[in-house]
Amino acid sequence: MVVAILALQGAFVEHGYMLDRLGAEHFEIRQRKDLDRAFDALILPGGESTVMGKLLRELDLFAPLQEKIKAGLPVFGTCAGLILLAKEVAEDKTYLGTMDIRVKRNAYGRQLGSFYTETEFKGLGKIPMTFIRAPYIESVTGDAEVLAEVDGKIVAARQGKQLVTAFHPELNEDVSVHKYFLEMAGLQ
Ligand code: GLN
Repeated sequence: MVVAILALQGAFVEHGYMLDRLGAEHFEIRQRKDLDRAFDALILPGGESTVMGKLLRELDLFAPLQEKIKAGLPVFGTCAGLILLAKEVAEDKTYLGTMDIRVKRNAYGRQLGSFYTETEFKGLGKIPMTFIRAPYIESVTGDAEVLAEVDGKIVAARQGKQLVTAFHPELNEDVSVHKYFLEMAGLQ
């Protein structure tokens, strides 16, 4: 069982460390030919969604990855990765658009752009959450389910085999969200 990590830009290396700790095999997707390798799940890291969206298109990765996700490939999007998966982005462009969530980018304003908290995540208890110029989810529709909220704002959700967090679980020691993803993907 192998996890692919999109490695065009942003905080992708840290996801690899988390998967190492959980004993999950992984590799990075940097270009089209990396898709020739078989994988069972995908991680879309944090970074800058506009840049990642542009690179996905330029490198011919956009359509094949979108197709795989639509066909049921388990996917975990953190922060910018969450934005890439959203069907609606408030006053902004959408990208892969596979998940029934409406998202607001840079939603915490400049002053509160980055912060840390420990909050309840459904089924996992209280976990550390690091937010960096984070989006939040304004609303979920369809059968998307809310997994965590901070100050009344949705910061984690799941729909089928798609998981998103507005925070960066890969930047803390706690591996529980990655473990949750691997279990959800049927890899552990
Ligand atoms: N602000 C970034 C964006 O809009 C997301 C920030 C992050 O991934 N840490 O894409």
